[in-house]
Amino acid sequence: MKTISRIYFDNAATTRVAPEVLAAMLPYMDNMYGNASSMYEEGRMARVAVETSRRTVAKLLGCNPNEIVFTSGGTESNNMALRCGIHRITQIITSRLEHPSVLNTSRALAQTGRISQLSYVRTDRDGAIDLDDLEKLLRDSGHRTLVSLMHANNETGRLTNIKAVGELCRKYLAYFHSDCVQTIGHLPINLSDLPVDMASASAHKFHGPKGTGILFIREGEKMAPMITGGGHERGLRAGTENVAGIVGFAKALEIAMNEFEEEMPRILQIKRMLAEKLSAMSCRFNGGDPAEGSYTILNAGFPKETCTSSLLLDLDQAGFSVSSGSACSAGKGSHVMEELNAEETVNIRFSFSKYNSPAEVALLIPALEKAVFCYSQ
Ligand code: PLP
Repeated sequence: MKTISRIYFDNAATTRVAPEVLAAMLPYMDNMYGNASSMYEEGRMARVAVETSRRTVAKLLGCNPNEIVFTSGGTESNNMALRCGIHRITQIITSRLEHPSVLNTSRALAQTGRISQLSYVRTDRDGAIDLDDLEKLLRDSGHRTLVSLMHANNETGRLTNIKAVGELCRKYLAYFHSDCVQTIGHLPINLSDLPVDMASASAHKFHGPKGTGILFIREGEKMAPMITGGGHERGLRAGTENVAGIVGFAKALEIAMNEFEEEMPRILQIKRMLAEKLSAMSCRFNGGDPAEGSYTILNAGFPKETCTSSLLLDLDQAGFSVSSGSACSAGKGSHVMEELNAEETVNIRFSFSKYNSPAEVALLIPALEKAVFCYSQ
């Protein structure tokens, strides 16, 4: 295949697998190919790999190994949290800014009558959750409620104070699930400090493989199976374990947590450098002050009169991979930008990883200036 030299600023969509992660995974696709349920040597080796990975993940996240269920990624984890923890739940409270795997799942549960009430908490122009409105919804609710709110928005990087949300949920005896797909592996999250009952993560957002995720389920939570079959993952998620993927998840998380202090300031410097240049180009930042959001995501709105709607394609042709929002809604308008009333601008999401450098931002700026009218004369 032809290799092309491109600059990748779409790490919120997916990331490159780290070479150390790939190296840790490869033996489980080669000579260590046993089925973790088999009783003989190869099977036992696979089982050891799965359970060692579970212990590693649990230790890194400050929880017990039996609180981690391995899944096929963030979408499945979110589905499991909403569909399987709800046998006594009659209401879901969420926001209109969630990932489609939460939005469409909660809508489906309401449409099929599995829950009788679906409520959306108010958010402001920058996408901040209105905690007073959440408290009002919880106080007025006559239902057994599950609150599902994401930690960092995947389009804007806006962070939600999930500690405050969790405390409100505890006060009103509601369950709390947080989609932490854009923060686990990015921030040093310790689940023992956070009042969350369930949390989702996905390996491919932090240099692990695609198709592997976890759902953290706090001990004592009663769950129904997501996939019935051979009783894998404590009967919650049947199917032969993706041993290589699970090993890759644990290795990627281990590297991310160990490198956080070193890599976070470097990545933040890249984001700040770009934000400064974009401010000078009269951009609006979707999601509020970039200094307050996730250090890996910057969403800029370019005034429509200064550029064509093909800004994204122009950048693609110039060798830069950026997106207009979530990869899951590619081709459709963004529900997040619609909610934030940001449709009067051409919105581009830039998202960063440890493999980006300030030199790449320096190359991006002239390409942007060429694509944006008022700078191209
Ligand atoms: N939740 C958020 C916030 C995401 O950004 C994504 C992926 O884009 C998902 C869930 C879905 O994760 P996966 O791609 O592993 O299914």
